[in-house]
Amino acid sequence: MKGAAVVIIGAGVTGLSAAWWLARDGVDVLVLDKGVIGYEASSRNGGGATHYQSPLFHEEQRLWPLMDQLLGYPTEHRPERIVIAMTEDQMARYRRMQRILAGLGYRADMMDPQQVRDAVPLAGDRHIGGVHIRTGGQANPQRTVQAYAWAAQDHGARIAQHVPVLGIEMAQGRAVGVRTRDGTIGCDQLVVAAGPQSGVLLRGIGIDLPVAPARAEMIVTEALPLMPLGGVDGNGLYGRQTLRGNLAYGGGWHEWMDDLPLAGKLPRPSTPTITQIALRLAQILPKAAHARVIRSWAGIVENTPDGRPVLDRPKAPGNVTVATMSSVGFGLSPASGRAVRDLVMDGRCGFAEIGKLSLARFAGLDPDWRRLQGWVTPRAEVMA
Ligand SMILES: Cc1cc2nc3c(=O)[nH]c(=O)nc-3n(C[C@H](O)[C@H](O)[C@H](O)COP(=O)(O)OP(=O)(O)OC[C@H]3O[C@@H](n4cnc5c(N)ncnc54)[C@H](O)[C@@H]3O)c2cc1C
Repeated sequence: MKGAAVVIIGAGVTGLSAAWWLARDGVDVLVLDKGVIGYEASSRNGGGATHYQSPLFHEEQRLWPLMDQLLGYPTEHRPERIVIAMTEDQMARYRRMQRILAGLGYRADMMDPQQVRDAVPLAGDRHIGGVHIRTGGQANPQRTVQAYAWAAQDHGARIAQHVPVLGIEMAQGRAVGVRTRDGTIGCDQLVVAAGPQSGVLLRGIGIDLPVAPARAEMIVTEALPLMPLGGVDGNGLYGRQTLRGNLAYGGGWHEWMDDLPLAGKLPRPSTPTITQIALRLAQILPKAAHARVIRSWAGIVENTPDGRPVLDRPKAPGNVTVATMSSVGFGLSPASGRAVRDLVMDGRCGFAEIGKLSLARFAGLDPDWRRLQGWVTPRAEVMA
């Protein structure tokens, strides 16, 4: 296969958004994926886009309402979100969130129980309040992945599916290509956006990216009458009501996994996790408690030790950009792709201060950091 000025490993939302931003600037881009576009976390997530703790938050909020028009394809983005509290602890957390958002210049209104009932027809009597965030929102992950891919191709990007990258070729201190089953594909610049597999790929060229994979799950109910606002969550859940009326929700515990091999079995949902998600959902939306769960799936999230993404172009090798999103990559994807474009083309992000997202912050990290954080893989007999 012909090489490219920029090769991107990974056709999830991060790699595809980066490809689109680069291609619309006329850059020759090739995206390689071991499977099909968006088949991993990028199409299996809750669709939430309210990452107020990220340095990319302002850009996330600016871009989402424009994305359908910019991409030329629908993402089903809908703004605003109501978060329902079942406990005082949750309410205190949402008050803090409201204050942070206000400090950032975004409106969010605390709600009493009656206001929640008025705004959310499926809510019941047992919640103690909530918060209505007038920004943020959510989109359809599958539609969004497709929209990025089509839009990138419209600008000339190439996307090759079923091409696992087996390693990175180096020469004179630079990444010069990627190794595949059919030979080496050359590049001037390389972007590693391979989700939880980024760590394994980068280790091969001496870059230490601390990232721990974990399994997370989603359930989908049969369709229910549409609520005025689809973005309703809380109580440890994330998710939304789809335009068709299904409730699509995830949340709860992360099941920590060992390092992922470059090819492996697909993650499967588990009954205890699904049951927990369904219980929490019935608590915030009791009038939906009768709804049947018609689908469920698992996906793998990629977690860094401090929960923040890594968006960085380290000094050595100098032509490799690292983009791994630590479980917040869907919502941030319009902005993360633009940041990757800037890192590749200009060596720095021109629209946000992303120093906090550099790899250097992990210098001196205890090699045993996963065990120290309790992020360990359960032994087989415990999982059985
Ligand atoms: C259940 C669940 C719910 C979530 N909810 C939300 C949410 O509400 N909001 C939010 O913002 N985020 C959410 N996330 C997290 C979000 O989905 C991820 O952060 C985001 O999708 C990461 O995108 P990515 O493109 O960086 O990685 P991925 O989606 O993991 O894509 C990486 C791609 O790289 C490919 N790849 C890997 N190794 C190789 C290789 N060797 N060669 C070639 N290709 C390779 C993979 O096949 C994959 O397609 C959720 C995740 C899950 C699982």
